Amino acid sequence: MVDLHSHTTESDGSCPPPQLLERAADAGVDVLAITDHDTFAGYDCALPLAPRLHIELLCGIELSTKFRGQSVHLLGYFLENHVPLAFRAWVSELQASRRERNERLAARLRELGMEITVEEAETRGRGMTGRPHFAQIMVQKGYVSTYREAFDEYLDESAKAYVFRHEPQLAQAVEKIRDSVGIASLAHPTRVKGDVSAILPELCRAGLNAIEAYHSDHDARATALYLGLAGHHGLLVTGGSDFHGDVKPEVKLGTGCNGNLKIPGDLADRLRQAVRT
Ligand code: AMP
Ligand code: FE
Ligand code: FE
Ligand code: ZN
Repeated sequence: MVDLHSHTTESDGSCPPPQLLERAADAGVDVLAITDHDTFAGYDCALPLAPRLHIELLCGIELSTKFRGQSVHLLGYFLENHVPLAFRAWVSELQASRRERNERLAARLRELGMEITVEEAETRGRGMTGRPHFAQIMVQKGYVSTYREAFDEYLDESAKAYVFRHEPQLAQAVEKIRDSVGIASLAHPTRVKGDVSAILPELCRAGLNAIEAYHSDHDARATALYLGLAGHHGLLVTGGSDFHGDVKPEVKLGTGCNGNLKIPGDLADRLRQAVRT
């Protein structure tokens, strides 16, 4: 089986990279891409272990980008399993800007009377530490009574503790991926607000060259819709479970939610063929 979307403890998954490989092997997945948010650390760690488990490990990443003011996730795949140093450096900058934002957020919360440190948040969020982890701590320490209240009162963009974080524009991230001979795929298009078919022409002009038609959030109808859009716009098709381990236990590697994920066995071969030609 093929699964081109998964997360490890290096971002917001619950499986350390070696354990993710074991889970994949147990689930019958023999072609796996690790697509952690804003980091290659999980992939780098798992790569030497993959042959032993007879898994073909592919290199991927999931980037948080901005498109028309909304946050849109973009997948990047580097099928030659080589990421140019310039792209890695750019990803490091994104991580640094997240960490710097977290410092300012912690300082702002302390200013508002809450004893919260970045280190505490990072214990929970590791490489993907963000507002959700600060919200959890605020609930745990009794500064708010619910997670919802933490966002509504403090962390939401319109709330009093919000601090700005730079996120790359979707078009910029697409360009960076394509410049590095990567495939840029619109992640879980069903989560994009508004009509995806209406924004695709602009995304294609920006260099988007794939769409994640197969995903655990997609029912058969959604999958057919995105396959149709891929055909119409000449986009490659990617697919994966978006496995996060025990934090989202209903999503299984390779098969999605209750077996709703049916990824063609030759999906990775088709992508590789497209990159070569
Ligand atoms: P960050 O990357 O640290 O800016 O946090 C972004 C994450 O915070 C999103 O992926 C959501 O999970 C969560 N989030 C953002 N805004 C809200 C909100 N208004 N209510 C609940 N969760 C939110
Ligand atoms: Fe995630
Ligand atoms: Fe995502
Ligand atoms: Zn994901």
